This record gives sequence, C-alpha cells and structure tokens, in this order.
Amino acid sequence: MKIIQPREGETFDIELEESLLSKNRELADNNRKILDENEIIAIDVMGSIGSGKTSLIKNLIKGLKAGHRIGVIAGDLTTEIDAERLREGSTQVLQVNTGKECHLDANLIKRALENIKLKEIDILFIENVGNLICPAEFPLGAHKRLVVISVTEGPYMVVKHPFIFREADIVVINKIDLQVQMGVSAAKLKEDVLKINKKAKVVLTNCVTGEGVKEIIKCMNFQ
Ligand code: MG
Ligand code: ZN
Repeated sequence: MKIIQPREGETFDIELEESLLSKNRELADNNRKILDENEIIAIDVMGSIGSGKTSLIKNLIKGLKAGHRIGVIAGDLTTEIDAERLREGSTQVLQVNTGKECHLDANLIKRALENIKLKEIDILFIENVGNLICPAEFPLGAHKRLVVISVTEGPYMVVKHPFIFREADIVVINKIDLQVQMGVSAAKLKEDVLKINKKAKVVLTNCVTGEGVKEIIKCMNFQ
C-alpha cells in the first residue's frame, strides 16, 4: 500500500513546536520542584473521553487509606462536570478549562498550583483533557503518568497511540466486565502495552465494583 508521510522539515509548525515543547519541559521541571518542596505526590491521569478517568480517580480517592489529604485538578475544555463529581473525599478541587486546547500543559498546571493551598494536601490527582495524542508530549511535572483505556474503546487503542503508552508509568485497562459483550480482550491490550513499554505496570480494573483499584494504589507507592 502506498503511504504518504511528512518529510523532514515538511510539517509547517515544526520549529514553533520544538521551542514550545522545550519551554513546557522547563515549566514541568519547575512544577516538580514546587510539588517536591511541598511533599506532594502528583499523578497525571490521561485517557480518552469516556475511558473512565473520573471514575478511576473517585475510586482511588475512596481506596486510599484515611489520613491522606487529596487535591484534584480537573482539566476539561469547557465543563465543570468532573470537578463536581470529584468533590467528595477531596480536600481541594480546582477546575482548569482549556477552551480549545486538547491537553493540559505545564503552564496551566503552574497557574493551578498557585491557586491550591499546597500545605494542605499530600496527593494531587490531575485529570488531563480526554485525548490520547498530545498529552503525551506535554509533561506536567507529575511524579507518575497514568493512562486509562477501556475495553469499550475497541481492540486498537494501544497500537494506535504508541507515544502515550511509551510515556506511561501505569496503564489501567478499565471496564473489564464488558470484555465479552465488546469482543475485546483485556489480556491482549495488556500484551500490546508491554510490547511498547516493558516497564509499564498494567492493571485491569472495573470501576463499578472497584476491582483492581487496590493494585493501582500499590503501584503508586504512597505511604
Ligand atoms: Mg472525566
Ligand atoms: Zn492537545
């Protein structure tokens, strides 16, 4: 089959993009410093719309031992639906609306951190905008990057998004109770992830029953 790919330098915005990405990395390093100084562990939660990011964060909040003070930054284009859903069990929830932007970036997180009482939280969940493409290129400064996919998204979600899975520390395969109905194998998706990223921890979950959630908490090693 004939395949057309961009030649070197052919993409219009390539130079702009490189300086933008390096600026983002700088800001991400700075965010990490701020988090470390305040003894906060931050998790960047990425995944498509409908993969179950918010449900997963809700489950993680519920599953964490008492005594953790939890903050959430909810990224979304325009709505506050997820921030509202995450209010229960969290100490502080902050909504970041990105407008037309399809990912959070380190500058938005810097501004968000300026609006959170950092001394009052120990764990920060950052729900990224629902998208499996560009969040991969925009580290935020979080300690761990977690990607959620669910079997309802079909069998090709991993192989079609290699970049984000390469960046992930933890990959959650969600809605495993629907494997038969969807004709999609969670074991095969896990295999696909490990082919791209041998070091990723892959956990199978059902966020309705809470199955698998404890295992994710173990992978995060917060104590
Ligand atoms: Mg959500
Ligand atoms: Zn984007």
